[in-house]
Amino acid sequence: MPIYDSKVSLSKLRTADSKRDDIWLLTRLDYLWSNFFSDVSQDNPIFIAFGRYSKYRLGSIKFDRSNKKSYITITAMFKDTSIPVEVVDHTIAHELCHYTHGFSSPKEQMHKFPHHGGVIQKELSDRNLKYLSIAYRSWIRKYRNLLKEERV
Ligand SMILES: [Zn+2]
Repeated sequence: MPIYDSKVSLSKLRTADSKRDDIWLLTRLDYLWSNFFSDVSQDNPIFIAFGRYSKYRLGSIKFDRSNKKSYITITAMFKDTSIPVEVVDHTIAHELCHYTHGFSSPKEQMHKFPHHGGVIQKELSDRNLKYLSIAYRSWIRKYRNLLKEERV
């Protein structure tokens, strides 16, 4: 189970997801981990938070060797509720795959490179998360067109 503030009741927050803040991100991480990554042990404290607004870097996971904590950062752009939840979930699940594969986590590294030969796609589909990849692809197509329009 991901680390979370015990003062906050996750079940209560699940019903109030109209506001996207760091607590909301935590409920998404908890949902994905509990339902699709439950075989993956949490070996160190993991934090998730919105970072700055980034148009191109949607998410990242970093490992701090000094305190042995993992940090998932999600672009502040995803606070916009017009962006489908599946797109945010896809980004979080992508980072969870890295954690599972031993990148930015204390686990043993399973591949030479984090995106080696479609390992993320395979992991997502093996975990019944293909629906997130489909939602993401459909969104990113429209989003890229939007960015193109912005530049002209
Ligand atoms: Zn990645």
